[in-house]
Amino acid sequence: MSDELIQSVPTGLFIGGQWVESSDGGRIDVTDPATEKVIASVASGTVEDATRAVDAAYEAGKSWALTAPRQRAEVLRAAFELLTARRDDLAVIMSREEGKTRAEGLGEVAYAAEFFRWYAEEAPRIMGHFGRGPAGINNILVDHVPVGVSLLITPWNFPAAMATRKIAPALAAGCTVILKPASATPLTALLVGEILQEAGVPDGVVNVFPSKQSGAVSNRILEDDRVRKLSFTGSTEVGRILLAKASESIVNCSMELGGNAPVIVLDDADMDVAIEGSMVAKLRNAGESCIAANRFYAHSSIKDEFAERFAAEMAKLTVGPGLEHGVDIGPLVDESTRDKVAQLVDDAVANGGKVLTGGKSPEGPGYFYEPTVIADVGPQAEILRTEVFGPVAPIVAFDDVDDVIRQANDTEFGLVSYVFGSTGRALAVAQKIDSGMVGVNRGFISDPAAPFGGMKQSGIGREGSQDGIHEFLEKKYIAVEW
Ligand code: NAP
Repeated sequence: MSDELIQSVPTGLFIGGQWVESSDGGRIDVTDPATEKVIASVASGTVEDATRAVDAAYEAGKSWALTAPRQRAEVLRAAFELLTARRDDLAVIMSREEGKTRAEGLGEVAYAAEFFRWYAEEAPRIMGHFGRGPAGINNILVDHVPVGVSLLITPWNFPAAMATRKIAPALAAGCTVILKPASATPLTALLVGEILQEAGVPDGVVNVFPSKQSGAVSNRILEDDRVRKLSFTGSTEVGRILLAKASESIVNCSMELGGNAPVIVLDDADMDVAIEGSMVAKLRNAGESCIAANRFYAHSSIKDEFAERFAAEMAKLTVGPGLEHGVDIGPLVDESTRDKVAQLVDDAVANGGKVLTGGKSPEGPGYFYEPTVIADVGPQAEILRTEVFGPVAPIVAFDDVDDVIRQANDTEFGLVSYVFGSTGRALAVAQKIDSGMVGVNRGFISDPAAPFGGMKQSGIGREGSQDGIHEFLEKKYIAVEW
């Protein structure tokens, strides 16, 4: 049944409201990470096709930018309804191409759809302002105008939500977009494109452009003067390359990049809350999340209890194909991700870590890795510095709160942190951590109404909330004499 669903997803490039083949006939194979089998093949756009996508977005932008905010809001609201109605299909497709469980997929669709509802509500509330210069001789009128054609590049780990978190505010602001999804997960993006067409998005306002030549097509698009915005979610490494490229034409950039989230468990933490929150923070999408808890610091007085209880909970989880009943943890997205996780575990053990549960990759097929807890990991272990992107939790003991804050901040990343402890002490720690987001006594922080984004090399700008729409608007100041 899920094979029939996969076959029903359009597999062309979605340009100017048409489904077209790529100009060189190139294709991208999509693999199910649970079986290692190819399940679909989609068109792979070329640099020539990329220019056609810019043509379509630019032409459509002339009228879309002038639509009434209410009209844009109603299209976005329809998108919310339709995406919600197709939640089961989207969850299945995401599971087949990315590996997540059905429950994870349904949760992601709810989150993804909510961006359409939230920005349907924000579109009519784009307010400028009026003021007067201090000398009393200048009337200052400030308007917000759409930034223009926007290139949206998204990762594979949340193929629906990372796309809608950009598309919804862009459309609400009056921008047109070219979405370049990750090559591992183009099917979800193509289905989102089809749903948006059904919701009444005019031709060319949203273009979906899978391509295995991601560098070449992005360069072509960013070199085009008609493109004024890049919104990227992915690794810091690729973000750095894209920022350099965007600097050539001074393209406005929003960057949602990698993380290395610390979890600090203070000695007065409620242990039930800390365990539950740590499980949530660690295991969303099998640990393949930019906001996944990456390294755990537990006070030495409670570290053994924390580690043992955490390991006991992790050991209860069932690993298997994401659509199978009773499965908690699906496969990792591909072989190299699974192998990197295995290497990080080996290195953690070589640095003194003791595996309390897991620590192995089950027999294939499928890129599975067992939920793993490693206690007493030494400070030199690579796992403390690198995004794990798997269901593995390294634990380090600490004695001094100032010292653990220093360790938490000792990274180029600054996306999210988690603190468990009595509210006053946990909040005091939260204020001293250099990250754009902090979960205090909770492991789930994502919310369309909250500003999502990172400090330091984890990003520039924010998505979601009232801030997200301003990433796609420019201020225009008009000096008025009357
Ligand atoms: P990635 O390798 O950086 O790829 C992200 C996107 O960039 C994909 O669409 C990829 O296309 C494209 N890309 C790769 N090289 C490119 C280049 N030279 N020029 C232009 N585009 C290029 O990241 P990923 O492995 O998909 O995702 C995992 C990373 O994303 C992690 O670091 C994670 O922390 C981060 N992330 C951050 C957030 C956040 O909100 N801060 C959210 C989710 C994920 P191809 O797939 O075709 O190569």
